[in-house]
Amino acid sequence: MITLFADVILPIPVPNLYTYRVPQEWNEAIKEGQRVVVNFGKGKLYAALVRNIHQKAPEKYAAKYIEHILDAGPVVTNSQFQLWEWMASYYMCTIGEVMNAAFPAALKLGSETKIMLNPSNELSKEILSEKEFLLIDALEIRTEITLIEAAEIVERKTVYPIIKSLIDKGFVLIQEEIKEKYKPKIEEYIRLSAFAEDEENLKNKFSELEKKAFKQLEVLMAFIQLSKRYSGETEEVKKSKLMHVSDASATIINQLVKKSIFEIYTKEISRFEKNNFSNLSEKKLNDVQENVFKKIKNIFLDKDVVLLHGVTSSGKTEVYIQLMQECIASGKQTLYLLPEIALTAQIINRLQKHFGDKVSIYHSKLNDNERVEVWKNVLQKSEKNNSGKIIIGARSALFLPFHDLGLIIVDEEHDTSYKQYDPAPRYNARDSAMYLARIHGAKTLLGSATPSVETYYNAEQGKYGFVEMTERFGGIEMPEIIVADIQEEKRKKIMKSHFSTILLEHLKMALDNKEQAIVFHNRRGFAPVFECDTCGWIPHCIHCDVSLTYHKTAHTMRCHYCGYSLKPPAACEACGATKLKMKGFGTEKIEEELSLFFPTARILRMDLDTTRSKYAHQNIIRDFEDQRIDILVGTQMITKGFDFDNVSVVGILDADSMMNFPDFRSYERSFQLMAQVSGRAGRKNKRGKVIVQTYNPAHSVIQNVVRNDYAAMYKEQILDRKNFFYPPFFRLLKITVKHKDADLLNYAADVLASDLKKTINGKVLGPEYPLVARIKNDYCKTILIKAEREKSIAQTKEILKKSFLHFYENTDFKQVKLVVDVDPN
Ligand code: ADP
Ligand code: ZN
Ligand code: ZN
Repeated sequence: MITLFADVILPIPVPNLYTYRVPQEWNEAIKEGQRVVVNFGKGKLYAALVRNIHQKAPEKYAAKYIEHILDAGPVVTNSQFQLWEWMASYYMCTIGEVMNAAFPAALKLGSETKIMLNPSNELSKEILSEKEFLLIDALEIRTEITLIEAAEIVERKTVYPIIKSLIDKGFVLIQEEIKEKYKPKIEEYIRLSAFAEDEENLKNKFSELEKKAFKQLEVLMAFIQLSKRYSGETEEVKKSKLMHVSDASATIINQLVKKSIFEIYTKEISRFEKNNFSNLSEKKLNDVQENVFKKIKNIFLDKDVVLLHGVTSSGKTEVYIQLMQECIASGKQTLYLLPEIALTAQIINRLQKHFGDKVSIYHSKLNDNERVEVWKNVLQKSEKNNSGKIIIGARSALFLPFHDLGLIIVDEEHDTSYKQYDPAPRYNARDSAMYLARIHGAKTLLGSATPSVETYYNAEQGKYGFVEMTERFGGIEMPEIIVADIQEEKRKKIMKSHFSTILLEHLKMALDNKEQAIVFHNRRGFAPVFECDTCGWIPHCIHCDVSLTYHKTAHTMRCHYCGYSLKPPAACEACGATKLKMKGFGTEKIEEELSLFFPTARILRMDLDTTRSKYAHQNIIRDFEDQRIDILVGTQMITKGFDFDNVSVVGILDADSMMNFPDFRSYERSFQLMAQVSGRAGRKNKRGKVIVQTYNPAHSVIQNVVRNDYAAMYKEQILDRKNFFYPPFFRLLKITVKHKDADLLNYAADVLASDLKKTINGKVLGPEYPLVARIKNDYCKTILIKAEREKSIAQTKEILKKSFLHFYENTDFKQVKLVVDVDPN
């Protein structure tokens, strides 16, 4: 009998695959893409993934035996392996790191993984084996145990198969990272009472109200309108909606209940509203859309990627829908990528109206059961399997096991959230999507109102196809952009705190007209700096080189880099003076000040601090859509492609801080942010207004925003990029060198940089301290490589790897960390 060896991917950052010996009785059972249990390092057990099977023993070490095979068949497809390998090589990380990003937790099973009883399991324990029973027993005493602990209870060698079997049987759960408890969302609805349902009775009630309760009659009529009682397709009416539309108080509604006309009932509304697909609707494309749709299909005949540049609200989404329709009709799968989880919630409703249960959603805030469910659906090839056809997701959806992908749509392709910063793989989901499409022979459509300079350049050069939509759907005008000159207002002393009079006037107008407003400010917290008025002392993070941001709600000062926090000091820690002053302002302060200016307005804030829980995004967006909120204050989270009907005014508080950010992309980014947030204004039937507050009204970025002139912005930027050796003409590789000791770091960074300057074919800049020179106790320095495009980037990466090996030959540098970011943001 032959002896087989398996190269496996370990779920830890080791550079190479590791080879294990397959016990001969498993020669038949072992397959590529299966998970196996192996022992690595100092007796640690891991669930690893079989990549290759062969007959060649490793030369440098004696292969240990595989301890167990976990899966009956492969859990990873060949095309997934291809994507992973490309990612590891392109983004310079290990394939184990890619695997960790790709797998839902339930597939991961590491030594530290915790398991717990499944509270909703109703099966009898009789179906358990003796050892399974032992574990369940232990779990009933302790609520959770790690796999290591489990291995002490049952025999070590069998712990993985036992746990897998318990998971499959539904007895235990892998503990989720997000421990969000499911809180149902309850909504109150109004219906007519059984009595009032009768047409005669209703008429009598009408005439009764007409005489002495006119307001109540108004509310009743509004209800009848909303419920579409006399136009066939009756609709359920939310109490909140009725109150808003008829401008009624809860008391009036209660009076109608007392008179036995209304009844209030409650309903738990599903987060995804997945059940009611009875009336699927289809929007017919107008001529412009039809034309664009045909053009895209035409270009796809000989190009793999098309950029659709369409202004905000031009109707791009409907074009996507038609393309997806055709794709799934041909039996293939479609992936619709979005940069932001909150956006997926809004789009899914729209897509489900069209595609019903063929749509699934996938992102990092789903719990693990939900994720595994989508994973399985996508893997299934069956004709009957509807829900694996269309996947909407944030960047991690790239990792799903597609079997036959036909089309990928990358919406808001310019968005920086497509790039993962930390941990590795530091990948850009837009670029990776194009590679994924290539593996499947699929097409990619990039869509944006403000394409990234790189993408637009590729389209200009003919590398991508290009189509344009220059007008908003339905003849709605682009918003009017009004520049508020803060300098001028300050000189005239008419500025009110952080608000120009122009902005306040417009907000007031919107509120008076029962329209909504969005106020954008790209800084969270209350105040970014606390300063001693006497000596100028500023509280800093003890782990990072930044000042602490004051958060008023929590009454703490917090570091936005590491999370360190403390209570604000009563006195200056340097001179002891008690007068501490707050400088600068964040969204929390804006929210508070707005509520002083507009005491009756309903104001809500959307930023990282208010969206930590699982459903927070969705709830805020829904509240705003349903017009339970008048003003939405937020960070860049609120600028993305949301579609709100009733927003007439958008305020941008501090355009300058974006433009002054020291980065070669800051003008592009500022333009994109301002154009995108402006795009939220004036969607339905009215021209919106945008107020941009700045000290530099004449600045070219501001002027380009005012004229909605993407082309002008692009022209200026592409020239700069060329002159200063930036993408798309050069490729960037950023190396961050980190160590706790500043002197050692300085020395190490110098050594590495001078080595690279000798070996790398291209420009090597630095080392220099980044904006924040110390994060989480590590000092950082960055080295930037600008590699010429024509020269092979693969070659540069090979040289880089060799330099790193050379670097670590110096034993003093053993603890120095090197982080490579390819195509940094
Ligand atoms: P974009 O994706 O370019 O921002 P949308 O697709 O969201 O634009 O379209 C803007 C608005 O116009 C939406 O409210 C959408 O419902 C509406 N709309 C777009 N196309 C059509 C169509 N063919 N028929 C009816 N309404 C449409
Ligand atoms: Zn002081
Ligand atoms: Zn910190």
